[in-house]
Amino acid sequence: MKSIKPGRGPSAFGGVASVLGALFGVIWIVAAVTMGAPWFFALFGVAFVGLSIANAVFGFHNAFGKNRYSSFDITEDGEEPDPFHSRIEPEAPDAPEAPDTQRAFSQGPRYCPYCGGTADEGYAYCRYCGRKLPDE
Ligand SMILES: [Zn+2]
Repeated sequence: MKSIKPGRGPSAFGGVASVLGALFGVIWIVAAVTMGAPWFFALFGVAFVGLSIANAVFGFHNAFGKNRYSSFDITEDGEEPDPFHSRIEPEAPDAPEAPDTQRAFSQGPRYCPYCGGTADEGYAYCRYCGRKLPDE
């Protein structure tokens, strides 16, 4: 059974974006210092760099960690643990098998392939158009 679980892609993107955010924070600090802005303006850049580094660590850890947590992934049975499923139903048995659609289809009413009229069980010829019905 396939399952949906946290994925890697969004975390990697977040990590890359956070690195760029940290670079922006450095540029902000340099600009604030060199342009003679009030001293506390540089602190905005420091906060930006700190938050970006924390977010980059979070993003890259999720992107490359074994039991990571990020957006979505679809995995095969037994490939990796499913954190969503274990939180919702800790002891859930496997879902029942999907119904046999092929069998359900053949048990429905028969129809004449020529005129579309219903054909009861055991009829060799269509009672509406008279043509021979295909064998079951
Ligand atoms: Zn017919």
